[in-house]
Amino acid sequence: QSPELSTRPWIEGRFEENVITTTVEQAINWARQSSIWPMTFGLACCAIEMMAAGASRYDMDRFGAGAFRATPRQADLMIVAGTVTYKMASRVRRLYNLMPDPKFVIAMGACTVGGGPYFKWGYHVVKGVDLVVPVDVYVPGCPPRPEALLEGLMRVQDKINSQRIVKRSSDNRLGAEAAELED
Ligand code: SF4
Repeated sequence: QSPELSTRPWIEGRFEENVITTTVEQAINWARQSSIWPMTFGLACCAIEMMAAGASRYDMDRFGAGAFRATPRQADLMIVAGTVTYKMASRVRRLYNLMPDPKFVIAMGACTVGGGPYFKWGYHVVKGVDLVVPVDVYVPGCPPRPEALLEGLMRVQDKINSQRIVKRSSDNRLGAEAAELED
């Protein structure tokens, strides 16, 4: 028996154990969802829970999202954690516009989601940050616990995972058909 033939069963057995097949799109999305860069952006008490989520006990870094950036130009996740006042709203919008695409927003806490305790009497509070920037995930609570923010982060990862990177020829065909229908 030649040496080549005697090694073949060993190689065949190893192939199934050690080789993963996937698509380019899934591989890129896996890398993107494991490399999220949140912006350092706390507005009120909810931000304390956001900081706790980033510290060692909850370890947001496990999800690849532990490197908080101090500039919007290096961030792709805005966690709006706290009370958004009307005075602050234009800054929130401006910072969002400065973030590169693709970017995501988590509304953390009752204040950010819909005005929270200020909903009725808070003349100075925006009743939901989605009036200012598009929100991808809402995390309710006053304040939400760090686990809730981590759950929200995983929902952002789900969104990233479901995004299409590769444009297939069938997409073009569908787009052309849609354009025809609109005409
Ligand atoms: Fe503070 Fe509650 Fe508003 Fe969070 S939701 S910023 S904990 S008042």
